[in-house]
Amino acid sequence: MGSGQVTSTVSPDFQGKHVTVAGLGVSGVPAAKVLHARGAVVTVVNDGDDARAREQAAELEALGVTVRLGDGDTLPEGTELIVTAPGWKPTKPLFQAAAKAGIEVWGDVELAWRLRGPDAAPWLCVTGTNGKTTTVQMLASILRAAGLRTAAVGNIGVSLLDAVLGDEPYDVLAVELSSYQLHWAPSLRAHSAAVLNLAPDHLDWHGSMEAYAADKGRIYEGNRVACVYNVADKATEDLVREADVEEGCRAIGFTLGTPGPSQLGVVDGILVDRAFVENRQKNAQELAEVSDVNPPAPHNIANALAAAALARAFGVPPQAVRDGLRAFRPDAHRIAHVADVDGVAYVDDSKATNTHAAEASLAAYESIVWIAGGLAKGATFDELVAKSAKRLRGVVLIGADRALIREALARHAPEVPVVDLDRTDTGAMLQAVQEARRLAAPGDTVLLAPACASMDMFTNYTKRGDAFAEAVRELGS
Ligand code: ADP
Repeated sequence: MGSGQVTSTVSPDFQGKHVTVAGLGVSGVPAAKVLHARGAVVTVVNDGDDARAREQAAELEALGVTVRLGDGDTLPEGTELIVTAPGWKPTKPLFQAAAKAGIEVWGDVELAWRLRGPDAAPWLCVTGTNGKTTTVQMLASILRAAGLRTAAVGNIGVSLLDAVLGDEPYDVLAVELSSYQLHWAPSLRAHSAAVLNLAPDHLDWHGSMEAYAADKGRIYEGNRVACVYNVADKATEDLVREADVEEGCRAIGFTLGTPGPSQLGVVDGILVDRAFVENRQKNAQELAEVSDVNPPAPHNIANALAAAALARAFGVPPQAVRDGLRAFRPDAHRIAHVADVDGVAYVDDSKATNTHAAEASLAAYESIVWIAGGLAKGATFDELVAKSAKRLRGVVLIGADRALIREALARHAPEVPVVDLDRTDTGAMLQAVQEARRLAAPGDTVLLAPACASMDMFTNYTKRGDAFAEAVRELGS
């Protein structure tokens, strides 16, 4: 970790500037409006040309914005800056043309960062393959418990642009950032930031694991107070080491074990801080009990420690960490306990859309009937199955890529009974839950942690989780 020159950015002047907004949608439409209001000459380009896009285009055109539907790859003549939707792949021809012409590309986060006022609230930022939303919400809850005016923003809740430009005065923002957003945010400088974990995901977008890690690592660039990393995930610590930060910025680890100096960790069921205390060689500060974390599954305790580290870096007192964690309620479909039926717990972790998340969720229970499958997105399942095999009472497979999981089970857990449901219609979830009930014994957990995306069978993971909960309710009735 070196300290380098930090470029401060001032709110730019857009008057008369030709800005191309790449992509309509959640970030594109508000970006186009803001830029237009600031005097920019805005052209929006969009790949799609469906009814929704036309509706959004009409709204923008009424304001005087030019919109080109059905061609997101041609760089409009005279473009001086591109503001892109974060999901657009860096390899798109539009960006190749921009690179050739020396035109800067900003994402939604970069735009918000540049537009924030001179007295703007500092950002505490969180990224990672899994646990971002939960950690940011825990962090916001802790900050609130300390009496600070804050919001969980970024990939969730309030948009960053609204948070930065709205009338609401904030003391500090808890910001969730995806790897895509970080890729397009070159000048972002956080007060403090955390990378929770790093496992292969979205590699088709980033091109390689190295490129994915490098984009995640951008979150540490220019940090002022703390770079928070996961002691159990060396890759996150490596990113801290490679980052150029401000003089005096500290590397702070979190661990589920006993913490060393400059770390937060767990001792005898207590979350303790050995980083933000006087004389950290000898002293530790109690923050909260493991039972204050909701739910107290191992990966979630790690999330709580990361949130606590960022809050402590911001100067929040220990009591507020405890109060904030106690007040926190997880979002739906993240290890949500749906019901107990005949002594079996039914848990909805539909949000476990990749193998890393599913592994964490399987590690939280002793004896599991696992409902898994969907779209694998290029993942392999050997490691997940090998690590989880001893916990599996049985498995019910659904979805398009279920054969990949079935084959991994045959290799690493051949004795575990598997029901392979050869259907992808909407009724499949009801049958999956009925099969799971048949396999389960009292004391077991039926866990929906698909390790896959949902779009082969459902609109999204929310609908998949809802279908599970509904099927469980039918069991009970
Ligand atoms: P994200 O915003 O990164 O997608 P969420 O907080 O929404 O993360 O959690 C998504 C899923 O990831 C959860 O349902 C859970 O299965 C898993 N998860 C949460 N925290 C962690 C963690 N620290 N490590 C591994 N998996 C996690």
